[in-house]
Amino acid sequence: MTKTLVIEAPAKINLMLDIKEKRSDGYHELETIMHQIDLVDRIYIKKDSRISVNSNSQEIPNDSSNLAYKAAQLILQTYGCGEGADIFIEKNIPVGAGLAGGSTDAAAVLKGINILYNYDISHENLAHISARIGSDVPFCLQGNPRIMMDEALEKESLKAKNKNGITGATCVARGRGELLTPLQTRFMPWILLVKPDFQLSTAEVYGKFKMENVHIIPDLNAFIKAWEIYDIIELSHYCENVLETVSAILYPEIMQIKENLEALGAVKATMSGSGPAVFGIFSQPEDALKAQQVMKQSYSETYLVSSYGRGD
Ligand code: ATP
Repeated sequence: MTKTLVIEAPAKINLMLDIKEKRSDGYHELETIMHQIDLVDRIYIKKDSRISVNSNSQEIPNDSSNLAYKAAQLILQTYGCGEGADIFIEKNIPVGAGLAGGSTDAAAVLKGINILYNYDISHENLAHISARIGSDVPFCLQGNPRIMMDEALEKESLKAKNKNGITGATCVARGRGELLTPLQTRFMPWILLVKPDFQLSTAEVYGKFKMENVHIIPDLNAFIKAWEIYDIIELSHYCENVLETVSAILYPEIMQIKENLEALGAVKATMSGSGPAVFGIFSQPEDALKAQQVMKQSYSETYLVSSYGRGD
């Protein structure tokens, strides 16, 4: 029987996002804090002679334009001897939402194929490949996701990996998002995520960004201080995203969701990435549960989540 490796691919939220300047290569110089949450895609990988990608979603491609396919192609071409991979994506992360759904699938494929084929590629070399797939993929490679094998005798290396703990990553990301500084693990138990019924193109949002429309400049140092002392209420106040000056103007519904979440008790509600997903950080579980009930009535894609991993 062909064995299947199953690996979780967690979504990320941008707790803070600032744009410093437009670079000469056309990209924007970013300063953002990315944090993995326990809304996960599950990637099933089997050894095969060719690469194939399938999923349970109509919204993502099944061909070589799928980021999971690109990841498989790059790692197999670089380290393999003509082998392929049969990949199935159980898609749970909303697509085109600012939650890095495609990037996290790609990162999971890199990790999964490395284990399945015993390539023993170092994290540094995987990071190198990941940067060629997309700006968010290096971040998605951080953290230790849950990995399972459908055979009774799990590999010793896999046992060790899971025993070391399932942990999510939090990093300051600069450059195009690929220059990473990890922050200490912190666990936020009550995050309510709301995805309105439309998608936004990351390229379009960045393309329309204008520095002169920014009136609240995110305070990275204040955020990090609050993060270090583990003060969830304090750090929530510093969650700001300058891309709201584009996305929430294009779609005022984003601003409305933010206001609703805060009226329902969120300490702060902020858009993730280029949107349109919005997250509210709650300090009181009863508020979060009530807000979930209320938001669910208007938004079917409402998720009550926490940080990814155990957080210790
Ligand atoms: P980011 O937060 O990194 O900007 P996003 O969450 O806004 O990304 P994705 O869900 O990654 O957006 O999807 C962006 C585009 O990528 C979609 O048009 C989708 O069709 C394409 N795509 C390719 N592969 C995947 C994949 N495995 N999962 C999701 N989208 C994919």
